[in-house]
This record gives sequence, structure tokens and C-alpha cells, in this order.
Amino acid sequence: MKILFQGADKEVTGSRHLLEINGYKILLDCGLYQGHREDERKKNTEFGFDPKEIDIVVLSHAHIDHSGNIPNLVKQGFKGPIYCTHPTADLLKYMLLDSAYIQEREVEYLNEKKKKTGEPLIEPLYDSQDAEDTFPLFRSISFNESQKIAKGVTLCFRAAGHILGSAIPVLTINDQADSKTKTLVFSGDLGRKNMPLIQNPYQIEEADYLISECTYGNRLHANILEAEERLAEIVNKTIARGGKILIPAFSLGRTQEMIYSLHKMFNDGRIPDSLPIYVDSPLSVNVTDVFREHLGVLDEETQKLFIEQNEDPFGFARLKYIQSVEESKALNNHKGPCIIISSSGMVEHGRILHHLKNSIEDHRNTLLIVGYQAQNTLGRKLVEKEKIVKIFGKPYPVKIEVAIMNEYSAHADKNDLLDFITQIKNLKKVILVHGEEDAAEDFKTSLEEKGIKDVFIPSYGDTLEL
Ligand SMILES: [Zn+2]
Repeated sequence: MKILFQGADKEVTGSRHLLEINGYKILLDCGLYQGHREDERKKNTEFGFDPKEIDIVVLSHAHIDHSGNIPNLVKQGFKGPIYCTHPTADLLKYMLLDSAYIQEREVEYLNEKKKKTGEPLIEPLYDSQDAEDTFPLFRSISFNESQKIAKGVTLCFRAAGHILGSAIPVLTINDQADSKTKTLVFSGDLGRKNMPLIQNPYQIEEADYLISECTYGNRLHANILEAEERLAEIVNKTIARGGKILIPAFSLGRTQEMIYSLHKMFNDGRIPDSLPIYVDSPLSVNVTDVFREHLGVLDEETQKLFIEQNEDPFGFARLKYIQSVEESKALNNHKGPCIIISSSGMVEHGRILHHLKNSIEDHRNTLLIVGYQAQNTLGRKLVEKEKIVKIFGKPYPVKIEVAIMNEYSAHADKNDLLDFITQIKNLKKVILVHGEEDAAEDFKTSLEEKGIKDVFIPSYGDTLEL
């Protein structure tokens, strides 16, 4: 068998790995590359292979950097089945339409500029119709069930513990070329133990080859078990001085985890029961509904605290979901303390910008950062304590308190990754993807120190025969 590396090589977005086996071409993930605009367009538009020749797609999870280029693959001629878990298929219906909407709006904006300079106009990477065209191709399967997907190839999804529906695809392969049976495991994004809502990652016992992410291959996270204590502290401190708490959060994952933690704290009386909490993002409302449809795959704690008590983990007296623009605008006039959870997670676009604009000049308020902030984003500038930032092109002095919590990271850190990999028996080779070059190189050294000597870090376009 052969693997062609087509994305997330020495970087963290655009996850795509092409497996050639027994005459089939199987694409593992089909993510969007997110980076510099020019690069981004080229890398997302052009595949390093002919989409018409791909037979099967296997998706690890519904994050856009792993699944977001599916509509483009279909637009360019892919017609085969797309295997994923049931929650991933349901989540993607909202995620891909939202992604198409963002692409359409961005191209509209760019074309306005191009009209003025007389440059040729551009098309969106894909539109809502292209996203809709992908839905009939989804073949969702349950966790831990084996499914034959091609001649001599069986697929089984194990829980990755990263977000709802996230999976570790395990492929058992009868390779006709050398008549050998081989197990290829793709970690997808590997999560962490003790995350709110999400089951712990499944420990793979045995494999020949592992394609592993290494996003935090050289970093350690703060302890998740202390997260709620810190969250309560920050919330209560802000309330005491009469301020509001703004939490920028991605609509899939972090938003539901925040709701869950706040719900627990509300039930335990750790935050005042008079405190209004708003989730202001239409996509979050839809995504949260998908969580409600898949309560059975949520973790043991959620089952015990909420589901067995017939209590909705995502709804409580003081929590209000906001969809309409009018209601969102009305929040600006809210007097007194409250919590507003809104997207985007890196404070780049979306409703969070309006809330921040209204709150940034008041020292009583808190902007609570609970997720990763990439370089050049407004979120990153605030984390780096810049004194003046621009919102909608206008400068604002930063008086709001910026509090940072890394406890909620949904990725395994260096020790989690080492733990996971060193427990897999009979590993012949580890292939490190989905990590910046430094993280990948440092993690390779850590693996070698643990006695795992055959570690490969591919570059974009590399091929590996196994
Ligand atoms: Zn992910």
C-alpha cells in the first residue's frame, strides 16, 4: 500500500492523506487549509490528485480543517461514499453550509474591491448548493462497528475524545501486493481524558502503522480538573465589580463545553442563580441540537448528572439561546452582569465583535479566552495585551480585563500523545502530521527517547510505501 501526503504536513490545517490499496484510492479527511489568503485559495482549490479518481472518503470528525473541503471535492467530480460517524454526518450538514456561507460572503467582499481596480472577479471555492450536494454521499456508521469499505479493507471508528462524533479510523487491510494483513490507524485529532461531555479517547491496543497528529507535541496543558474552579473564580470576580463576561467560542465544541460547565456550576450554586447567560450564535443553536440528538455518546458524568435525571445538559433556567439579529443587538442594552458566549472563537468575525466593541472600554468587564488564538487574529492581539486594537477598522483602547484559560483544550498534549502511542503494541512506524514543524520534530525526539525509532515527518507531496 501507498500513502500520499496531501495536507496538514508540518502544519495544522488542511488534513488530507491519500491511501492507495488493492486498486482503490481512499482519502482520509478532506479538510480546508486555513492560512495566508493567496496560499489558502490555491491549496484549497487545487488537489494534488484527480478528485474523480478517488473511490472513498473517510472522515475523522466534523471540524472544518478535517472535513471542510468535501464540497469542493464533490464539485470537482468525486462521487463515492463518505464514511463518518452518525454525529459527524449530522454536524456536517450545519458546518458545511456555514462554511459555504462564509466563502460566499468573503468572495462578495473581495469582488467589490476587484470591481474598483478592474481585476477579474473570482468564484467562491464552493457555494451552499455544492455543500448540499455532498449530503447524499454520507454513509454514517456507529462507533466500534466494523464495515467493509473496499476489497480487503475494513473500517472501524474508535472514539477520539476530541469533539462530538470525533473518531480514530482504524483500517484493517489485506494487502494483495504482498498478501500481508496490516493495521493502519489514523488518530484524527486526538482528545484528552476528563473533557466535559466527551468520552475519553479509546486506547488502541495494537497496530502496524499510525498516522498521528502532534499539534501540541511539545507543550503541556493546564489541568482540566481545575478548569471549573478557575471559571467560577473569574465569573464571580467580574460579577462582584458589576461587569459582563464575554466568552468567544467556536460554535462546535467549546460552546457546548462552556454551557455544560456553567450548568453544573449553576446547579451547585457556585455562580449566582440570578446571572443571565446568553449563547449568541445561530450555528451554536443548531449544533447544540445535534448534541441533544446524540446524548447516548456523551460521557459517563453527563449521563449521571443530567441524562439519567431527565435533565437537558444544554438548557437551564438562566440560559437563553439567541438567534435573531434584533435579539443580539438588544443585548447591547443589557444592564448589569451577564455572560455572553458568542462566535467566532478567535474574535475574527461574527457577533462577538459587536459585543466586544460595546464592552472593551469598561474595566469592569472580562473577555475570557478559552480557546487557541492563531497568529494575526484579534484574539491573539488581545492575549498579547495590546493596548489599542481595531474593531471594524476603528481603534479602541483595551480597558476590559483579558483572562486566559488553556484548561479546555480539546487536543492531547505531549504527555497524552506519548501515553497513547507507547501503549500501542507492535508499532512498525509512526507518521507525524497535523503539527507545526517544531512541534513535530520535538515530538519525534520524545518518541525516540521512549524507544520508538521509526518516526516519519512527511512534507506536502511525499509518498510512502508500506
Ligand atoms: Zn479538530
